[in-house]
Amino acid sequence: RFITVEGADGAGKSTVATRLYEELCKKGWNVVLTREPGGIEIAEKIRDIILNPAYVNMDKRTEALLYAAARRQHLAEKVLPALKAGMVVLCDRFIDSSLAYQGYARGIGIDEVFAINQFAVENCMPDLTLYFDVRPEVGLARINATKGREINRLDLEALDFHEKVREGYRVVRERFAHRFVVIDAERPVDQVYQEALRELETRLQV
Ligand code: C5P
Repeated sequence: RFITVEGADGAGKSTVATRLYEELCKKGWNVVLTREPGGIEIAEKIRDIILNPAYVNMDKRTEALLYAAARRQHLAEKVLPALKAGMVVLCDRFIDSSLAYQGYARGIGIDEVFAINQFAVENCMPDLTLYFDVRPEVGLARINATKGREINRLDLEALDFHEKVREGYRVVRERFAHRFVVIDAERPVDQVYQEALRELETRLQV
């Protein structure tokens, strides 16, 4: 089973994913928790390039290709072997991030970004995607309140970019409605976690 978590920066998805991972492990499931872009050495290196705040002139198609390249390596090296071994894979961001950020918000087009990602993932798509919905101003306020967080290239974007990301996710959700669950992430993180866990339990009978 391949489960992804998606949403804007500051939605709390990484915190919730970690707690879900711990809970599933406690229940005796074999689970891998991983993240994108990154998760393995080559992809973490690509992540450092993509997110480097110095590279303000990075072309949007270059950015999309680098995300797809990082995704491919992470899939081949970590996700697919784990799925093959019968493990549950819980992945913080996957293809839908590229569709919403690069496809929609950066304006390349969802179909074009989907095409290069199909090349990268072949037929491996998530079975379930938990989408953490938060208004950008709420997400960004949470991020600004987090001490010690590294500044990345996305932090330089204005609020309207983040609005577009949220709209992009709306379009992506409609396209893949069969695997998407929307969770209101503006509530306290514990409630968000409880709902995410309930969804996982009912959808996957874990
Ligand atoms: O989720 P995480 O904080 O690790 O993502 C790192 C940064 O990369 C975030 O600012 C996120 O918005 C951005 N990102 C992006 N396009 C993607 C995936 C992530 O701009 N496809």
